[in-house]
Amino acid sequence: MNNPSLSPDTSGDLQFDAVIIGGGIAGLWTLDRLRTSGYNAILLTDRPLGDGQTLASQGMIHGGIKYTLSGALNKASETIADMPDYWERCLAGQGDVDLGDTNTLSDHFYMWSNSTMGKLTGFFASRAVRGRVDKVAANERPALLQNPGFKGSLYRLVDRVLDVPSLLANLATNNHGRLFQLSNIINRLDKDADNNAYLTLDNGTKLQARRWILCAGKGNAGLLTALACTEPAMQLRPLQQLIVRHRYPYPFYGHCLGADKTPRLTISTHPSASDETVWYLGGSLAEKGASMSASELINAGRQELAELFPWLDFSEAAFSTLPVERAEPRQKDFARPDNAFAEPACGVSNVLVGWPTKLTLAPNLANQILAQLPPPEARNHDLAALTQQLSVPDIAPLPWEAKRD
Ligand SMILES: Cc1cc2nc3c(=O)[nH]c(=O)nc-3n(C[C@H](O)[C@H](O)[C@H](O)COP(=O)(O)OP(=O)(O)OC[C@H]3O[C@@H](n4cnc5c(N)ncnc54)[C@H](O)[C@@H]3O)c2cc1C
Repeated sequence: MNNPSLSPDTSGDLQFDAVIIGGGIAGLWTLDRLRTSGYNAILLTDRPLGDGQTLASQGMIHGGIKYTLSGALNKASETIADMPDYWERCLAGQGDVDLGDTNTLSDHFYMWSNSTMGKLTGFFASRAVRGRVDKVAANERPALLQNPGFKGSLYRLVDRVLDVPSLLANLATNNHGRLFQLSNIINRLDKDADNNAYLTLDNGTKLQARRWILCAGKGNAGLLTALACTEPAMQLRPLQQLIVRHRYPYPFYGHCLGADKTPRLTISTHPSASDETVWYLGGSLAEKGASMSASELINAGRQELAELFPWLDFSEAAFSTLPVERAEPRQKDFARPDNAFAEPACGVSNVLVGWPTKLTLAPNLANQILAQLPPPEARNHDLAALTQQLSVPDIAPLPWEAKRD
């Protein structure tokens, strides 16, 4: 029997206020906001949730501090500065997305350098860092840095680091019944005579939406091509992260500053199914690593660790790498976007395209999308007709767990 709420016409087609494509943070956060704002919305994804940038991220909810490292205030550091408080309200169950079941890996991030900190007066004056940075006295250093070999100034930022799988699980639970996994979405999308996108399921049922919202990370480009849209254009920022499994009991979260605008090395520590400590290394090392072979990057990483922590011995550690690309709206001169991006696709009437550009900016993305939607049309939200045909996506494994198999 057709569900009348989803089949306002006699054709059996299903009508929604919005269908979101992409099961990373962008799609899940947006779905949550649409659902609680009264929209009849669902999310389709072609792979398990989080697979892509979201589970490859370092989980930092940052106020833009690392973007001010050049010492100059810039737009990015000012616009992102409100995000940590936004997330804090959500994590406390008092925001517009309930993240009460999301785990925190660390409530702080360290930052250290032996040379450049003194010059960063603009940095310490910026909104992004005001009230959020403290100098750490020698006797209060974390265990990792309690060694006479450590030289330099150490600062503690209040930036939080989230356990991303628990964030995804939290959002999946909030939106239970609205998440669907569907293969080959690109080939199912088409446009009708009025230039409206629609999607056809295997049994011929058409999904129609007042707005399709593309939140598929780097997959947005292929989806746009399937709809014969050339704008908005995308740029990819390649990285190669380094994964280090070792036996030291140091769950550490920190940026080491060097001469570059991005931190020389960013270290985060993540849960592992084994009893090893997993250090996940990014920053300039991962940016430069994008053009290296895995073995070259592993050698460079070993050298960095030997220089920064000469009192530790990583000869028994297991190293592996994770090539991954950040997907962003195309910018002049390949600049880093300052903000989340959400705009209508050209050449089709009912499609919005979004890239959060940072995990931290997912709330900002959803706010931009909501501002561009027509009001919801009141409907019953019974999704039984879809639940019978499509599967429910699981949460993807963390990249370093997947790579062990
Ligand atoms: C190494 C790394 C570290 C990072 N660290 C941080 C950090 O610490 N803090 C921070 O704020 N940001 C960080 N970021 C940025 C952040 O991870 C991304 O901005 C964010 O996760 C992007 O989310 P997304 O949902 O847009 O994309 P993704 O997470 O890539 O999700 C896109 C989803 O769309 C699905 N999809 C793709 N193509 C299709 C298709 N054709 N049909 C259907 N579904 C499709 C995929 O399965 C995927 O699940 C980091 C990024 C990287 C790469």
